[in-house]
Amino acid sequence: MLPWQQKLVRAIPPVNAILAAPAVARLMETHARELVVGSVGEAVGALRRRILGATEEAEVAGLNLSLGAIGDEVAAHLAFKLKPRLQRVINATGVVLHTNMGRSPLAEEAVAAITAIASRYNNLELDVATGERGSRYAHVEELLCRITGAEAALVVNNNAAAVLLMLSALCQGKEVIVSRGELVEIGGSFRVPEVMEQGGAILREVGTTNKTHPWDYERAIGAETGALLKVHTSNFQIIGFTEEVTTKEMAAIAHKRGLPCLVDWGSGVMVNLERFGIRHEATMDELIADGADLVTFSGDKLLGAPQGGFIVGRKELVQKCKKHPLTRALRVDKLTLAGIEATLKLYLEPSIAVERIPTLRMLSLSAAAVEPVAVQLAQRLEPVLAPHGFNAQVIDGMSQAGGGSLPGTDLPTKLVAIAHPAPHEVERRLRQQDPPVMVRIGAGQILIDPRTLWPEELALVVSAMERAIV
Ligand SMILES: *Cc1c(COP(=O)(O)O)cnc(C)c1O
Repeated sequence: MLPWQQKLVRAIPPVNAILAAPAVARLMETHARELVVGSVGEAVGALRRRILGATEEAEVAGLNLSLGAIGDEVAAHLAFKLKPRLQRVINATGVVLHTNMGRSPLAEEAVAAITAIASRYNNLELDVATGERGSRYAHVEELLCRITGAEAALVVNNNAAAVLLMLSALCQGKEVIVSRGELVEIGGSFRVPEVMEQGGAILREVGTTNKTHPWDYERAIGAETGALLKVHTSNFQIIGFTEEVTTKEMAAIAHKRGLPCLVDWGSGVMVNLERFGIRHEATMDELIADGADLVTFSGDKLLGAPQGGFIVGRKELVQKCKKHPLTRALRVDKLTLAGIEATLKLYLEPSIAVERIPTLRMLSLSAAAVEPVAVQLAQRLEPVLAPHGFNAQVIDGMSQAGGGSLPGTDLPTKLVAIAHPAPHEVERRLRQQDPPVMVRIGAGQILIDPRTLWPEELALVVSAMERAIV
């Protein structure tokens, strides 16, 4: 320690004096003593590190070591400690399902159901008609069957869990035939060959990356075969010279040999998206009608529900999954079930589902529907940008479904574009606001896509920009 550093460190008031400072004493009135004492320790530690980290005296010349200034530091440390780490962010990227931003936001109906169930006792495993123990799965099973046309259904923690459970319960020690074009990796940790291994099934690859034919499956079926598995290529597309076997064809091949046809459909789309100009994706009821014996899918992708993994299909197979010991380890909690039930109820009237479920509503917006919001936002940004010499323009662009759904589907949109010499700096500063605002950057411009904004978020974007623009 250099002499000037020693002098400064000695000038830091003792902990007792800091604790007695009026600002700190006030904190003690509303917070536990240990918490405040801990924050004092952190504030003092940070000051010491700044002093010892400086290479010359001038760097720390302005350091305020008064009790008042240190008291403010203590309050800041305490506030930081109490602030939630998991926080709301504003998604101005136009990526509707963003895994890093929590995938599907929930419909208000789902939020209300979660709140009601979370704060009081409930009938999670109680049959109120008989007073006996009930099943937590019963609350949503009938609803799932009605919407998908399946005989039975089960919900677990997420779709990765659903696939693992399905393979463990039905295919342990047996071969499962999968097309080489469908050996996907979803988000790094879910890889079909590895889940297969974990489930105790033996992967039998057929076909090639770009083409798989019905006879590839037929020829691979043998005494060891447990099932045929179809996997949705959720986050990529094979284009060009390609051929895949449809669920209907696969089911027919499987059934001829007395085998189940299993489908991991990932995104879990329940409504026909074609009317929004989006390429057709088979819906769950179509897959069941095509003969799939079990279909698994996620709750928080296109379904727009809380995180969950669904298994729907033939009763006897769902029953085997229910009885498997893994089901207990992968079980969903009451909050998830409450949110899922409320979301599924909206699907009883598909037009209401599109209106009420944010994910579907956002996907359904045409560029013409986004435009007035973009124009309004650009106008509201103008007075914030003009003093810095910048302006906002409305331009054509593309939004994405994202989150392992609808690969290759771009949704025409209108963007608010701000040309800026340091877009990355503004992007970083927008991210540091409360709530953080996430934007895209393209061709040196800051791009804001109103598709994924709620009306009340426009004001938050404007005020964040006011603080972030440089
Ligand atoms: C997203 C996806 C998964 C993983 O689902 P999670 O709900 O994220 O666990 C598995 N398979 C497919 C095909 C997917 O698209």
